[in-house]
Amino acid sequence: MLFPASSTSCSASGRPVPVLVLHGGAGTLTRGAITPEQQARYRGALNDILLAGQALLARGAEALDVVTETVRLLEECPLFNAGRGAVYTADARHELDACVMRGSDLAAGAVAGVTRLRNPVLAARAVLASASPVLLIGEGAERFAIERGCETVAPEWFDTPERLAQLHSVQAARGAAAALDHDAQNLLAAQAPAPLDERAKMGTVGAVALDAQGHLAAATSTGGVTNKLPGRVGDSPLVGAGNYANDRTVAVSCTGMGEAFIRGMAAYDVSALIEYAGLSLADACRRVVHDKLPPLGGRGGLIAVDAQGRIALPFNTEGMYRGWARPGQPPVVAIYADEDDRSPA
Ligand code: ASP
Repeated sequence: MLFPASSTSCSASGRPVPVLVLHGGAGTLTRGAITPEQQARYRGALNDILLAGQALLARGAEALDVVTETVRLLEECPLFNAGRGAVYTADARHELDACVMRGSDLAAGAVAGVTRLRNPVLAARAVLASASPVLLIGEGAERFAIERGCETVAPEWFDTPERLAQLHSVQAARGAAAALDHDAQNLLAAQAPAPLDERAKMGTVGAVALDAQGHLAAATSTGGVTNKLPGRVGDSPLVGAGNYANDRTVAVSCTGMGEAFIRGMAAYDVSALIEYAGLSLADACRRVVHDKLPPLGGRGGLIAVDAQGRIALPFNTEGMYRGWARPGQPPVVAIYADEDDRSPA
């Protein structure tokens, strides 16, 4: 879904209106397979989190703070594959990845393969604040984050029965192959039809924002893909692959089969198409999501905002949990491909 410039993206003064966009993963989300109650839970969670981010933007918060807090709230929500509710590795553990990036100076911080940090996005933020390094992994990342005040939890804190059942169904159906969070849920439901047809979504979470000062930022957090090899790292914590922000162009957060997004350098490619090829935000996003990624096996989508406050939420799957909010306007939340993103909530 693309959301072109509209009357809502500029204020009366002509200055871009701050905006927050978020996603909770893309995938095979079909209407009939999800109960109204389940839909309502997702929509409610996304709406509440958008309201929290909208309030921050309205108070003049920096884009980096807004996306960090938005993703922290998404990590706390067990509906999504990040933080609590993260998917399982092949050996039934959780390895979490996150990244944050600030568009004004290209500062970035990321962690990968962490197992006991309650909010990986806060650890990524601590890495960003250190200026160097940019990416820390595993135990070293945990030590670094703990020294800077990040909260730890027992690894079991991330456990949820739904994700464990997903792991077992993926292992039964596919052996060693990994599966996207929501695809894994589809397998599960196919084996034992259940009201929750989350079966084929990628539940990674992300947020991008433009603040009142005209700065952009992006944040992304994930448990990766169900049944992933221990040590496997996807696109989400990699600057330019799953997460990118540059005030000159765009802020982007991706969700989908990470290997394709890495090989396609998806998030940075949106920026490069705008900066070097002169494409509009909508055209750059369309090129990456619909032309470039599918031949690489890149099922998924992304959210993006540019410095003029235009937003795009394209995906090549049946649906993507998504939404956006501007101060003073009701948040918009959507799941399915046929929902008209351009209509007011
Ligand atoms: N991109 C994530 C990964 O490959 C998965 C997702 O988006 O759900 O780790």
